[in-house]
Amino acid sequence: MYPSSSSSAAKDIPPTYPTLPRIQKASSSQDGPLPDIQVDHLVVGGGVVGLAITHALAKRFPEKSTFMVERHKRSGEETSSRNSEVIHAGLYYPPASLKTNLCLRGRELMYDFCKEHGIPHKQTGKFVVGNKESHDHLQGIVNHVKSLDENVENNIGALVAGRRQGPPLRIISGDEARQHEKDIGPEIAWVLDSSRTGIVDSHELMATLERLALDSESAEIVYDTSVVGIKPLQPTGTSGKRGSGDESMLGWIVETQTEGGEVDQLKARHVINASGLNGPAMLNALARDGYFGEGEGGMIGMWYSKGNYATYSRAKGGVDSVQRLIYPLPDMGGSKDKHGHQGLGTHLTVDLNGNIRFGPDTDWLRPSAHQTQADWWNQHMVALQPSSATINQAGEEERLDAMYESVTSYLPNIKRHGLSADYAGVRPKLVGPAGGFSDFTILHHTATQLQDQKVKQLAFNHDDAVQSKDARDALYVGSWQDSPQPSLITLCGIESPGLTSSLALAEVVSNLIGRRGWGTRLDAKSSVKGAQNEHAGMVDQWA
Ligand SMILES: Cc1cc2nc3c(=O)[nH]c(=O)nc-3n(C[C@H](O)[C@H](O)[C@H](O)COP(=O)(O)OP(=O)(O)OC[C@H]3O[C@@H](n4cnc5c(N)ncnc54)[C@H](O)[C@@H]3O)c2cc1C
Repeated sequence: MYPSSSSSAAKDIPPTYPTLPRIQKASSSQDGPLPDIQVDHLVVGGGVVGLAITHALAKRFPEKSTFMVERHKRSGEETSSRNSEVIHAGLYYPPASLKTNLCLRGRELMYDFCKEHGIPHKQTGKFVVGNKESHDHLQGIVNHVKSLDENVENNIGALVAGRRQGPPLRIISGDEARQHEKDIGPEIAWVLDSSRTGIVDSHELMATLERLALDSESAEIVYDTSVVGIKPLQPTGTSGKRGSGDESMLGWIVETQTEGGEVDQLKARHVINASGLNGPAMLNALARDGYFGEGEGGMIGMWYSKGNYATYSRAKGGVDSVQRLIYPLPDMGGSKDKHGHQGLGTHLTVDLNGNIRFGPDTDWLRPSAHQTQADWWNQHMVALQPSSATINQAGEEERLDAMYESVTSYLPNIKRHGLSADYAGVRPKLVGPAGGFSDFTILHHTATQLQDQKVKQLAFNHDDAVQSKDARDALYVGSWQDSPQPSLITLCGIESPGLTSSLALAEVVSNLIGRRGWGTRLDAKSSVKGAQNEHAGMVDQWA
């Protein structure tokens, strides 16, 4: 018997603290000349979230320069192309969480965006299936979702535009479900029917976001280039180029390295870090280099949970006519936290070509004792294979057996020999296997006085919002009248439903940049006045 994800072997996995190499270029001294390349917005990471942010910033701030840098040859090579491509309804997360709010908002933005730009998608609907004991559990989900219509707890709904509305949801009997999906097994007594769930072609979505950004006058994208260092540009005195008299020169020095090893630097007024599995690396590098008063003690830890997929050949039978996504109840991995599931269970998804896939399972990765290699998780990405890092040491056949056992509990006519290994993705987790629920995390820092800031400094202050008469102003840390701040926005723990939420995350980030970075009101639409985008076009020098 192999240890499972909820076993004690998995529970004590230590965190990894991703970081960046130290800044290396000689010209990076605080008093040296500024780099030739200077941009208004630098977005780090070309997954779906970085692309959505790049597009949103270019659209909202056409007078500003927006650059995106991605370390691979093309966008979406990591988590954004290794997921289930499901447009989630938003059923499972705490009412006040970013996950709930941004999933609800993001889902509707996603359907509209797909329609507007002809991106292949389908509102398939989803069945969550349970046995005769599961009615109360399913009813709990229905009650939770109903409460979302009114319960805008902590005013977090003010983050996103429009009235918050839970998705349509109902419980039907197993017999009624079998009239729609005849392959569902007789043990299934109760089914949650989530009609607003769907699927999207994530590659087309990313290609469209990329094209729209590049078509704008103000955005540029650089591939094959990694961000390898960051430091704040702080005031050096009362006179001189970077003195307090020249606030516009404040920002961040960012060091990049091309695939060929060429190191360069640029100055960015605002940096948005959407680097997925490397999310905390920039802040951790700043903490390591002593910019925060709390030093390395404040560094942010990450855990990595691999999800394996298997394809299923329809020709083998058992799911001949399936139309909807079919999920078991979420995998709680032993967590007592009702929102603390580790994955949504080994479910059935159908892609837009009708291909069937099962997964993802939950396979926590353990770093080796003296892990120094960056991105160590990358070498363990082969689907359904054991490795030195996987807690589950079962081989491919045994894992397929386990998947078969799991899915035949609700689709009994699936054939074992129809399953074969497909791909794997890694969830960027901010809590380990014993940790319970963890929300999307958006942090905001300013380049000035980092010494007085905390590493884990949230961008939104819910407590102030509750007490404030004007929740909309209090929600964003600091008020809009404050002088604009050279900002670093960090997105961490953007696991599922991150694809669904991507356009809403971009909306929130562009509001945050508008408000804290440029000093505009939340509802201002592209009204920012400022320097022209004189640096657009200089990217060739940098890449
Ligand atoms: C198994 C699995 C199933 C999922 N299923 C769903 C689903 O059905 N629906 C849903 O809504 N969500 C789902 N998700 C979540 C969703 O896939 C992610 O939330 C989303 O893709 C995250 O996008 P991202 O842009 O933040 O990260 P990523 O796609 O990881 O992009 C980050 C990018 O940053 C780049 N990068 C990193 N470091 C640097 C650096 N130093 N310099 C330059 N570039 C850098 C990387 O190369 C990468 O391209 C799933 C996730 C997993 C793992």
